[in-house]
Amino acid sequence: MHYRGRQIDHCASCGEIIDVSEWHPTKARTTDGETEIYSFCSERCRNQWTGR
Ligand SMILES: [Zn+2]
Repeated sequence: MHYRGRQIDHCASCGEIIDVSEWHPTKARTTDGETEIYSFCSERCRNQWTGR
């Protein structure tokens, strides 16, 4: 996966800064034919986010 040179990202659920050089839970969502990848600091945040 490429992040266009970015070394950090933010958790889509809580906004926590995460280091993308390490593995983190992600979730892909397709809207109008465009796929976006969301990153999360933990499984808990991903579950919380997808549960909404
Ligand atoms: Zn989080």
